[in-house]
Amino acid sequence: MVGRLRGGQIVLIDGGMGTELQMRGASMDAAAWSAVANLDHLELVQAIHEEYIKAGADVIITNTFASGRLSLAAAGRSGEFERANSNAVAAALRARENAGAEDTVVAGSIAMFHSFQDEERPDDARARADSYRAQAEILAGAGVDLIALEMITTIPDGRAAIAAARETGLPVWLGLTPKPGEDGELRSWTPRGAPEGPPFEEVVAALVDDRLDAVTLLHSVIDVVVPGLQTVRLHFEGPLGAYPEVGTFREPNWEFSDLTPGEYLEESRTWIAGGAQLIGGCCGVRPEHIRALSQGIPRARAIA
Ligand SMILES: [Zn+2]
Repeated sequence: MVGRLRGGQIVLIDGGMGTELQMRGASMDAAAWSAVANLDHLELVQAIHEEYIKAGADVIITNTFASGRLSLAAAGRSGEFERANSNAVAAALRARENAGAEDTVVAGSIAMFHSFQDEERPDDARARADSYRAQAEILAGAGVDLIALEMITTIPDGRAAIAAARETGLPVWLGLTPKPGEDGELRSWTPRGAPEGPPFEEVVAALVDDRLDAVTLLHSVIDVVVPGLQTVRLHFEGPLGAYPEVGTFREPNWEFSDLTPGEYLEESRTWIAGGAQLIGGCCGVRPEHIRALSQGIPRARAIA
């Protein structure tokens, strides 16, 4: 995949996992969202991965977005932190094997999910840093091919998560989430009702350097993908990615929009024109959307 990215080719990422689990009846936990599916509905996690591979995804992302130690503790399942993460990787690896797609890349997700939910407590920053490190170790030990940091929205957590990911020695993707600010400028994402985040470019400038293997935009509304890519490009010459969302989260569930696969494909062409090489989808994006990208976007199948 590294060769394909260096060669300027398009690489397809999968679509949403948490939202897809919800649509198929897995219960979402208020504190640990989709992470509990790794403990209670692992066969569903694996089946969704397989569908994304069959739809044409070159990269599948483990269902570990909400599997941080603090989120699982808040869900009353702190003793299952390791298992929730190793199970998720095992499901992705089994899906790859079942689909007979050895060249599929398995990316291990680490996100700031816990900090989106709770009031900040004084010891949280250290506890989150410890969780990033522990989660990165588990994901790497269980066999992921790279670490995909997702929804990194603040500079301190970004630094901690990047450091933790780098300690594994695996490639690291930094996933950022821009949001339209009240003044029209891009801001870093914050949950609904929370104060506005820092200017997006401030976060980019503080976190991005050329040791990152890719910088992606995820979980953004589609409208900010192209300006977000332009902002990242000011600070990063390497591969860019975009996997936005198409819906609205109302805890603990997701309300889906009706953007068709064909419409999603048309949108994705603007991200490619804006420099993105890694293309996929986040919440609300389904296997049929990824299939539309796979069929509609020319890309070489052979991994260099
Ligand atoms: Zn999302």
